[in-house]
Amino acid sequence: MESCCRACMPCCGRLWNWIWPDLRYPRSGLPGGTAAPCPGGVRIPSPRRHPPQLYAALFDFEARSDDELTVREGDKLSVLEKRGDYVLAKKLTGSLEAGLIPRTNQPTTKRLTDQPTSQWYYGNINRMKAEKLLLAAQNKDGAFLVRISESHSDEYTISGEAAEGKVFHFRIQRSAIGAYFVSDKISFGTLGELVSYYQKNHRSLGVLLQEPCAQQRWERPREEFRLVRKLGEGHFGEVWEALWTTENRRVAIKTLKQEDTKQDEFVKEVQALKSLHHPKLIELLAMCSRGEPVYIVTELMSKGSLKAYLSSAEGQVLTSAHLIYMGSQIAEGMAYLEDRHIVHRDLAARNVLVGDELLCKVADFGLARIIKDSVYTASRSTKIPVRWTAPEAALYQRFSVKSDVWSFGVLLYEMMSRGKMPYEGKSNKEVLDLLSSGFRLPCPTRCPPNIYRIMLDCWAAEPSQRPSFHALHSQLDAIYARIYFKTIEV
Ligand code: ATP
Repeated sequence: MESCCRACMPCCGRLWNWIWPDLRYPRSGLPGGTAAPCPGGVRIPSPRRHPPQLYAALFDFEARSDDELTVREGDKLSVLEKRGDYVLAKKLTGSLEAGLIPRTNQPTTKRLTDQPTSQWYYGNINRMKAEKLLLAAQNKDGAFLVRISESHSDEYTISGEAAEGKVFHFRIQRSAIGAYFVSDKISFGTLGELVSYYQKNHRSLGVLLQEPCAQQRWERPREEFRLVRKLGEGHFGEVWEALWTTENRRVAIKTLKQEDTKQDEFVKEVQALKSLHHPKLIELLAMCSRGEPVYIVTELMSKGSLKAYLSSAEGQVLTSAHLIYMGSQIAEGMAYLEDRHIVHRDLAARNVLVGDELLCKVADFGLARIIKDSVYTASRSTKIPVRWTAPEAALYQRFSVKSDVWSFGVLLYEMMSRGKMPYEGKSNKEVLDLLSSGFRLPCPTRCPPNIYRIMLDCWAAEPSQRPSFHALHSQLDAIYARIYFKTIEV
């Protein structure tokens, strides 16, 4: 087999290079009810079972022996295991055959994600909200949406409007090899394929799927919100806890200081937030832009900013396991941005918000920009949080996903040192001089060496040498699982 593969180069030797990771999400949420008590009294969940990695073949490959698998361009595959120069893969659709296909060590050239950007994808909304949206006057029978399932966070639900104002919900399940299915008669490699199949074959579902649900109206009358208490104040204005009376829901409201120059930036922040849906990113719910002050309504996070949480009594007793669990969630949210080439540019503990059971979400996309090139060059006048910023970004305004990775390393330092200011006692200029001479922040007390190793990787001088957020997420998850199952306190 080995020699055959080599003999057949390049026809099959590059096959693995023709196959790219297709579906990695959803990996959100936590398995329900698996939280375990930990020292410090804060509960953390058991590490998650990751859904299988799915791939799509980029080119045809003809099997040359019984144990190889013939694949056609576009075939969706689940990789069951790696075996030397081969992977054992199983087709997700059609014949469902399994077999070996060759792989090389060359990096993949293109990546797909499965968090659809389609109009019908509504992300993390619950059943009640879905029903309300679908029954809005502008929708007709057959209007539908897909949302993350409330009870199974790695699965989805199709909700649609049937005749006479009724709403149906079908769970989209995942098979053991990661394929999506509503009925076990037919499965699909992506949600998009599943949806277009049922749009064309409505008999097999028994109901119509026609137009995507009309988008929620973001603009709401400000009378719908009652400010309850001030939570804090940032660069743009105040943040309030509020009651959204018509939805009977507690929310956070950012208000805009009445200075025209900032209003533009504020509205950009909204535009960036609106199109992003991920369980580890703060979700935009609505806005009131008519009249002043402008309100941006987002989900409310019960424990406020991570920076403040780390210094609170509860934050001070967190173990490394708690902190690594939180770090992994932040890396997951950032990996979603990485896939979309969105650079945050201000990743720090102050811009992460904490909810119940140590839920962490990345917030404040005020500085984020969707970039066309891999590197975004900002105007020199922009204020830069130097202690969190990679040297090439602080000195030459070369912001990129890799400069966010540097900031993530500093964020890990903030977490593992339970809220310590990075480079304490040093001026911004001293920090930049120290960094250019090769100095790096020291390992915080009680920080496991493998976590410090990750920080150092994030602070590689050469941006391309820094890990991706996907890699950081997997590494942190793996370390968390090891600590959790050994139940060791580090
Ligand atoms: P800047 O605007 O300069 O980035 P910042 O991030 O501290 O500074 P804001 O994002 O305006 O400012 O938030 C101010 C404070 O309000 C935060 O530190 C946090 O404590 C609180 N806060 C913000 N958003 C929420 C939210 N969604 N839920 C709960 N508390 C929040």
